[in-house]
Amino acid sequence: MYDLNYLSIQDKLSSRKNIVITTHKSPDGDALGSSLALFFALYKNHNVNIIVPNEFPNYLNWMPSSNKIKVYENETANCDLILDKADIIFCLDFNKLYRTYLMSEKLKLSDAYMIMIDHHEEPDQFCDQILSNPLISSTAELVYEFLLNLNFQINRNIATCLYTGIITDTGCLKYPNVTNKTHEIIAQLMSLKINHSIIHQKLFDNQNKSRFDLLKICLNNLQVFHDYNAAVIFLNESDLIKCNYKKGDTEGFVNIPLSIKNIYFSTFFVEFKDGIKISFRSQGDFDVNLFSKNYFNGGGHKNAAGGFIDDKNIQKVLVYFLDSLKDFSNN
Ligand code: 5GP
Ligand code: MN
Repeated sequence: MYDLNYLSIQDKLSSRKNIVITTHKSPDGDALGSSLALFFALYKNHNVNIIVPNEFPNYLNWMPSSNKIKVYENETANCDLILDKADIIFCLDFNKLYRTYLMSEKLKLSDAYMIMIDHHEEPDQFCDQILSNPLISSTAELVYEFLLNLNFQINRNIATCLYTGIITDTGCLKYPNVTNKTHEIIAQLMSLKINHSIIHQKLFDNQNKSRFDLLKICLNNLQVFHDYNAAVIFLNESDLIKCNYKKGDTEGFVNIPLSIKNIYFSTFFVEFKDGIKISFRSQGDFDVNLFSKNYFNGGGHKNAAGGFIDDKNIQKVLVYFLDSLKDFSNN
């Protein structure tokens, strides 16, 4: 666990600064919610830009001021200029520079003062200060703590964004890392008259038809490995093309096999044009962070992790996956 020296940060923020807020590739609700909340706290007294590595899914484009977010992949030269002038860079919701994809080199070489706020295990040491605790449900919870410590007033926009971050990263407050403190923060955010019901509708009841076409294929591909209490689903690149895949369409699919009795480990493979993206989820003791780190070049949290393989043959990767599972279970 890492904490911040708030006095020194307060000192840095006492005069107008060029600030960049950034987050990980394929930003999710926590990444975007945390970034926008921090933006709303800082933008009146500073020149603040949010730069994300690549596009975020449509189910988040209703978030206040999300139209101001710059996408590094789409406007690299402009973003590089902004990054060159940055005095302070906030790194939200990631623990390793490679998670920022095309931005990682630029961030590595930056002279700006860097502050990480994150909840993934084992943060790399690329920032000047780190607020990190893997036991906390979401980066949004940590941003809430950060804002309180610096005496920022939480307004309705900030509350909407933090609520979105917490809700999306906790499976609507159901994961084991949700605490009474999480609920207390939610209660505080709700006291600011956010429209929680509309937020849920926008997040979860506004799906593309293509999502359901992909889900049908996924469920047809389900494989269950009872000996390991494990299940796998996958999609080929041709499935994505056939169903007119849009970013975010497969969000949450990996959780579905966990609802099968006695299945505690679920894996979802998706074949993209540059390789296979993998999502791992577990319930209980099975450590998917370690599993992904050992066999799939990735990581994350104990019960939710991701990985990537530079190969496009899902059948081959499935064989490798089973071998890895056997190996992991025997150790
Ligand atoms: P998802 O399956 O939603 O992509 O990722 C699940 C969790 O693992 C998220 O908290 C995400 O930040 C983390 N994660 C995903 N991919 C990677 C990766 O390649 N490396 C690391 N260290 N974490 C990842
Ligand atoms: Mn998160």
